[in-house]
Amino acid sequence: LTERLQNVFKNLRGKKKITEADVTEITKEIRVALLEADVALPVVKKFIKAIRERAVGVEVSEALNPAQQIIKIVDEELTAILGGGEVELLKSPKIPTIIMMVGLQGAGKTTFAGKLAKKLKEEQDARPLMIAADVYRPAAIDQLKTLGEQLDIPVYDEGTSQKPVDIVKNGLAKAREERKDYVLIDTAGRLEIDDTLMNELQEIKALATPTEILLVVDAMTGQVAAQVAKTFDEKLDITGVIITKLDGDTRGGAALSIREITGKPIKFTGTGEKLTDLEIFYPDRMSSRILGMGDMLTLIEKAQANYDEEQSAKLAEKMAENRFDYEDFVEQLDQVTNMGPMEDIMKMIPGMSQMPGLDQVKVDPKDIARKRAMVLSMTPQERHLEVELSPARRRRIAAGSGNTFIEVNKFIKQFNQSKEMMQGIMNGDMNAMMQKMMG
Ligand code: GDP
Ligand code: MG
Repeated sequence: LTERLQNVFKNLRGKKKITEADVTEITKEIRVALLEADVALPVVKKFIKAIRERAVGVEVSEALNPAQQIIKIVDEELTAILGGGEVELLKSPKIPTIIMMVGLQGAGKTTFAGKLAKKLKEEQDARPLMIAADVYRPAAIDQLKTLGEQLDIPVYDEGTSQKPVDIVKNGLAKAREERKDYVLIDTAGRLEIDDTLMNELQEIKALATPTEILLVVDAMTGQVAAQVAKTFDEKLDITGVIITKLDGDTRGGAALSIREITGKPIKFTGTGEKLTDLEIFYPDRMSSRILGMGDMLTLIEKAQANYDEEQSAKLAEKMAENRFDYEDFVEQLDQVTNMGPMEDIMKMIPGMSQMPGLDQVKVDPKDIARKRAMVLSMTPQERHLEVELSPARRRRIAAGSGNTFIEVNKFIKQFNQSKEMMQGIMNGDMNAMMQKMMG
């Protein structure tokens, strides 16, 4: 976290609402943070715009201070752009699943092929075959063969004298014959993108019709990586991206640019030269890394979880000990009201939307208001159940809240019933609860 950003956040402390000026100041700093992380400028601009729209006028919650709240928004948006959640490797319904590695020279294609083969073998008990289709450097073939020996995974090669597309063709025939379930094609790269390379890769793609075409990019190449990804995607319609060398101190802004520009999911990251240095890509972790706010985000999560947990733990305890009173009742009403219309919440519960009669489940806001008024007309002792609600008291509550005596009686009866029911739930006494509900 930059010092300037920290100062901006300090100024926000104690505010009740986030103003446009606050957001402008914060987004300016976030912009700097993203550019420092090597995110491409157009991507930064688009991102900042989205943040502005969400952040202005946001009410400050009780759990977080305004600065934390904005960071949370930034983190959420960033995570969303990065894909939301992890994306699995595609698998062909018919063996073999063919995976083609593409990318510039030195990006880490061959290393990744080895890492992936190892992972598939260990986790899925798979029997992969690797094809050495980088014929321009003898060392490239030896590198793959060495990996194959280490992993005890076969490598198909024809030296450097054949055309890559022919090698792939023969390799695939062998894989089918031996009923291999995965084929990993290690292709050649160039220092820069050129047509010869692209033509060769297109030829291999047409022949092999791979399930996955994974673009391997070096995180340290930053802005260049975004341009590379764009071109490879246009020419080959890649299915996913691997970002290597994230073990360095690069913040990994390339991930954001690549994802935003190609729309293709990032599937794995390389975090070292060893064959075990492969990780599934988690958008939320990448987001904290790009923002350089790992600790801050953990803190925010904790603050929020504690707050919610505290609230519900307090209520649960009261229910279980039968200490739930009228004040808790109103608090709960408020919580439910904050969630939106009850009918909508019910519909989100799986299976509920098909329930006959759901149309009749209507929570009347007037009814809620009436109940709230009754509680407000009670004395603190009454709300906390410290005195018996005698008929005289009930009459006073009715008059004070603009309700009839009968309505007050009905409300008190309902309150007591639901209290008994809640206690039944909390203590796991389902039978008693069902009887109450049916009765
Ligand atoms: P290719 O030309 O795309 O096949 O790239 P290589 O797989 O040969 O990798 C180029 C260099 O990068 C090698 O020295 C690898 O050991 C190294 N390398 C690959 N992936 C990673 C990674 O995730 N982290 C680090 N630190 N080095 C890597
Ligand atoms: Mg290679």
